[in-house]
Amino acid sequence: MKILVVGGAGYIGSHTVYELIRAGHEVVVLDNLATGRRDAVHPDARFYWGDIRNGRDITRVFDIESSAEFKNKPIEVVMHFAAKLIVPESVSQPLAYYENNVEGVRTLLEAMVDRDIKRLVFSSTAAVYGELEGGICREDDLTCPINPYGETKLACEKMIQWVSAAHDMQYCIFRYFNVAGADASLAIGLDKDNLTHIIPLVMQTALGLRDKFYIFGSDYDTPDGTCVRDYIHVTDLAQAHVLGADYLLKTSDSLIANLGSGDGYSVKQVLDAAQGLFEVPFEYAPRRPGDPARLIANTTRVHEMLGWHPQLSLTDILKSDYDFRRKLMQKEV
Ligand code: UDP
Repeated sequence: MKILVVGGAGYIGSHTVYELIRAGHEVVVLDNLATGRRDAVHPDARFYWGDIRNGRDITRVFDIESSAEFKNKPIEVVMHFAAKLIVPESVSQPLAYYENNVEGVRTLLEAMVDRDIKRLVFSSTAAVYGELEGGICREDDLTCPINPYGETKLACEKMIQWVSAAHDMQYCIFRYFNVAGADASLAIGLDKDNLTHIIPLVMQTALGLRDKFYIFGSDYDTPDGTCVRDYIHVTDLAQAHVLGADYLLKTSDSLIANLGSGDGYSVKQVLDAAQGLFEVPFEYAPRRPGDPARLIANTTRVHEMLGWHPQLSLTDILKSDYDFRRKLMQKEV
């Protein structure tokens, strides 16, 4: 099928493009390259520069792709990855998050309604849950975000549901837990300046690019006092999107599903796992604003509805991120 990946030059978008192409789909990418990289786009995908906050950039792609030049074959599914996703940044710049994340999705939906494109796979987040008692998140649980990032994604989820009801649109909303790792080819991975996520920072420390790794907070209500998260390899996550697109095409239903491993690891446990492989100097530091204590996925729904089971472990995630970063360093010398 022909799929438009909005934000396909970014980290999760580029990995999803790789998996869609491996599954035999025709892939079109729209990206403004604000944080994405042109060279992260799979060579077999067609690339368009554009910004989803500008409706004409989107309708132009829909129109070109459904023209005779491309055998009058319209885009069947849109996947949306073009969002800002750094929790502490969202706390300090909430308006930028509303503008990019919420306005971007509103414009995208408007263009889809205008051109009668009826299927959307949307990247949401575990941050929509906030501080749930026990930290195990089920899709039907109360959503009560504690940071602007989660709020903007929840606003988008609701907007998509209202638009779906009004315009007969199908959606697959995936709530991601903590995504990390790199494609097995090491051609793509999380390659950005100003990294903030735990696994790349631990690995940069292991590679000597940072003096120390700082654990943010040791007084949370968790067994070792550090925050607990559910880590999922980006390739497993990307493969779930292939199944999500198939689901939309083969059924007339919509779906909201968590994408995680179902296992929780504390920041200290992640560090211990990394230290089993590499040397990683560390120090405790104060809490970071906006961090819930525990976020772990209940994954029953995605197993039942899509038959998806992650294949890669925390060790696989750590090793692949390390290998990708080491390769980047070799390229730079
Ligand atoms: N974290 C940390 N040190 C760092 C980066 C992150 O202790 O240098 C912690 C962070 O406070 C949180 C967990 O690691 O408890 C996961 O944070 P990350 O930014 O990777 O993902 P998030 O859960 O915020 O999406």
